[in-house]
Amino acid sequence: MSEAKKLGEPMKLDVLAIGAHPDDADFGCGGTLAKLAALGYAVGILDMTRGEMGTRGTPEQRAQEASAAAKILTLTVRDNLELPDSHIHLDEESRTKMVRKIRLYRPTILFTHFWEDPHSDHVHTCQIVREAAHLAGLGKYDIETAHARHRPNTIAHFMFPRTVVPTFMVDITEFAESKRAAILCYKSQLYDPNSSEPQTYLSDAGFVRRLESKQLYFGSTIGVDHAEGFFVREALNVHDPVALLSTQMSMYS
Ligand SMILES: [Zn+2]
Repeated sequence: MSEAKKLGEPMKLDVLAIGAHPDDADFGCGGTLAKLAALGYAVGILDMTRGEMGTRGTPEQRAQEASAAAKILTLTVRDNLELPDSHIHLDEESRTKMVRKIRLYRPTILFTHFWEDPHSDHVHTCQIVREAAHLAGLGKYDIETAHARHRPNTIAHFMFPRTVVPTFMVDITEFAESKRAAILCYKSQLYDPNSSEPQTYLSDAGFVRRLESKQLYFGSTIGVDHAEGFFVREALNVHDPVALLSTQMSMYS
């Protein structure tokens, strides 16, 4: 079997969201992914690990949960890089694996974690994605095995510290229910009064409410109910400032 066959047939995604653990991308930008899919874009999620170090749930449960959430978000594809949970590091193997996925899915835009985060897997995922996004465009990098070179146009980051001001907000009000349904697929991770597994930050009864409170806050800054915020490090090249800015309702904070 040729390497191209082993790696899969290349496809074209508009957006690929990359999270360290199954559920990160759903929590961080699930509403935006559902909205983009409804707008007709091809959208996917790549999870870096199977979440096997999670205090609750098994990798098998988490794979089923991630698959169920993908259906609700109407993703074109959901894939897993199968790196070791809690041991994601910026190294040659991880970068090469990521380069191959970028060349396989050929996304125009990447969404991923921010470079400051309490979880080292999130930090290192961000680093791997940023480096691999560049390397994937170099024709001589991993030339023996990979599909044709491809470099995404830009990277937008989700799940950042409170001191970071988002570059843009996405109104996800119409998709807040879908996002909530996708989040609730992750039963093993969330509040369950019948579970005897250890408690975690996510399994607290107030976790989903707090996640939605953040959406409501982001929404309040643009005059809508629910929004997700993104941070882009590079300067934005705006083709049509009128089209962009005319979506503003008024002078919100
Ligand atoms: Zn995570």
